[in-house]
Amino acid sequence: MSDIFKGIEPLIYESKINVPYSWWAGDTASKFFINLRDEKKIIAPRCGSCGKVFLPPRKVCPACFTENTEWVSVSDEGTLVSYSVARRKLASIPADKKLPVVWGLVKLDGADTAILHFLDDVDPGDVKIGMRVKAVFAEQRTGGIRDISHFKPVR
Ligand SMILES: [Zn+2]
Repeated sequence: MSDIFKGIEPLIYESKINVPYSWWAGDTASKFFINLRDEKKIIAPRCGSCGKVFLPPRKVCPACFTENTEWVSVSDEGTLVSYSVARRKLASIPADKKLPVVWGLVKLDGADTAILHFLDDVDPGDVKIGMRVKAVFAEQRTGGIRDISHFKPVR
């Protein structure tokens, strides 16, 4: 450090850098998101070898290493496999979400894997592993995972 800065207190400012970018979702995710947006349907690829249905959609079966070319409809209802409750604001929580925020891993009927999403319309104290939940679609759909607004308990 130069002598001209000697005796000057270093100040540190907290800030964020906003880096806009875009990327192609790929043919597998694009097909999934387009069906959510246009049909309010949840579809998932199935492995032609072992028959497993992957949601989130996967292009290649991780067990058989074969390309998943068959698509099936899965239910908008499923079972809560796990969950977590956030009681303070995190960068990953969208601005429209109020605390506490509940995330759940939901295995939809007809799928062999679980999807991570928000649980709403439920008190965090009432959330239980194994509870039945249903997808609530967003009114305005844009071709993203938030075209499912959230999952709510099946009553
Ligand atoms: Zn397979």
